[in-house]
This record gives sequence, C-alpha cells and structure tokens, in this order.
Amino acid sequence: MKMHSLEDFILNYEIYNEFGRVKKYGEITFKEKKYPLMTVSFGNAQAPTLFINGGIHGLERIGAQLTLSLLNSFHERLSWDSVLQKMLKDIHVVFLPLANPVGYFETTRSNGNGVDLMRNADVEALDPVPYLLGGHKKGPHLPWFRGHSTEQETEFVISVVRDILSATDTLASLDIHSGFGFRDQLWFPFANAKNKFTQISELYLLFQLFRKTFPHHVYKVEPQSKVYLTHGDIWDYCFYKVRKEHQVYLPLTLEMGSWIWVKKNPLQIFSKTGLFNPIKKHRIHRTLRRHRPLFDFLLHALISNQFWTQIDPKNKTDIEQKAIAKYYE
Ligand SMILES: [Zn+2]
Repeated sequence: MKMHSLEDFILNYEIYNEFGRVKKYGEITFKEKKYPLMTVSFGNAQAPTLFINGGIHGLERIGAQLTLSLLNSFHERLSWDSVLQKMLKDIHVVFLPLANPVGYFETTRSNGNGVDLMRNADVEALDPVPYLLGGHKKGPHLPWFRGHSTEQETEFVISVVRDILSATDTLASLDIHSGFGFRDQLWFPFANAKNKFTQISELYLLFQLFRKTFPHHVYKVEPQSKVYLTHGDIWDYCFYKVRKEHQVYLPLTLEMGSWIWVKKNPLQIFSKTGLFNPIKKHRIHRTLRRHRPLFDFLLHALISNQFWTQIDPKNKTDIEQKAIAKYYE
C-alpha cells in the first residue's frame, strides 16, 4: 500500500503495525470529522530515543510531509535491511507526523480553535517577547493566539514526550517547521528566556560530531532565543516540566528556510501555502531528500551517545566555555 499523503496516513496507519507500533492518543473532532492523534514507534523503548514530529503548524505542510516520508522509508527499510533491524535493540524511534490534523487539512497555522499550538503550553516568558508574535491572549482572530487552556493537541505532544522519558534517560527530538529565512535552521531551547540552555555542553559535543562527519552540512544551529522569544513553547515545557534532573534531552526544531523556494518561484507568493512550502514537484522531492543525513546522523549518534552525554568532570568547564562562545557570543 502506498502512503504518500497525510490523507493516506490517517486512513491506513494500521499498516505500520507490521514492523512498528501504532499508538493512538485520542481523536480531534472538527466539523463532524474525526482525526486520530497518534504516533508510530520502532525498537526498544528503554533505549536512547529519537522523536521526530511535524505538522504543529498546519500551514507548514512540508513539515508533516517530511516526517511521513522519513517514517515511510524507515518502515520500508525494515522489510529488508538487516543492519537496521539489528539496530532496533539499541534505539527507539518515534514518529508523530501530524500534531495538528485540523490545521493541516484546513490549511491554517492554528488548530481548529484558532490556537497556535507553539504558544499554548503552560510556560511564561521570562524576558520580553515581540508584540503578538510572542503569543497573546487577545483572541483567535489574531495569529499567535495562546488560548486560555491547554489544547488537546498540545496535551498529546506533551504526553508523547512524557511516555518516552518514563522509559529512557536519553532523548533527542526534531520538530519540523518551515518559515521565513533563506537557510535551514536548527534551534535549541530556550524560547522563553535568554538564559543559556542547560545542556549546552551535550549539544555542543553532538554538533561537533555532526560538523566533523558532515563538514558541508546545510544548517545554521542556534538558540531559539537569538531569533525571537515566545510564551508557551511546547519544548520549553517538556524540558522544564517533563524532563527529570538526570536526563539528557535535546529538543531541536528544524525551521526550513522557505524564502529560497519563493525566490525561485515568485508566483507562489500568491498561493495560500506558498510562503511556507515548496510548490514545484522537484523542489518538494529535493526537500524530502535534503534532511536524510541529519536523520541518519541522529539515529547513530543516539546509539553511540557516550561521546556526547558522558562528559568527563575535569573537561566540563572547558567544554561549557567553548559551547557558550560558539552559540552565545
Ligand atoms: Zn512553525
């Protein structure tokens, strides 16, 4: 069965039970239609975990499509790839392609209640946030509305992280978005404050491995707080309130630069989704291919995580200083 589209995904997800495990967390009802909230996972839940999710902002459709495409090739490979099959005893991979199904199918950024899920978690910013963009409570008629309580979809994503961290102490997650900018960016916490990320040393060592392995990689890596601050970021919430003190958790956000697609095809600015997504077929395919090395790297780096999670106490200060110089100065 072909699972090319998110429409196929929500209708036929049972097929992933062949090599993986489908877990349904609930259902969203909108205009008399029901949409499942679910994950597909593979491997050993007690092992270091890679969590890939997309579709938090419905309009940024390419994020959900990329997550689905990674899921599909992973599942396909498990039918023949004995190396990958063996790896599954040392790794856990969780895919959540569609965090905001109503937003995806109605092509809106927010969910069905007009709430921006990336402003909706129960976290307040500690430093000033940009007007409106940082999240507000004025109402769903304006973008970036925080909502008045935690939405079902936000609760869903948090529950997935809670389940993962109840079984393992090592987690890296990749939340896939697309937005303005010419480059693909990888953001790490925090979104609510200019404070330095607590696990900056682990992050620094991980990306040092990445740079050594892929010296010409395409990403600009930086703290989200250097771009803009917000209230209600889901990853802030998970890091502050779900992670336990001893756990290593690197929540990464991939923000795919969409201006390059617009620059190459300026007419797409007139389409509703054109500011956030590649429209031409070859460019969609190129985008779906482009992030495979990062995915593969994270998979292997989690299995061999001793190189970045186990820091010798006598080197700790030195590494932390280097990390701060690289990312904050
Ligand atoms: Zn987004």
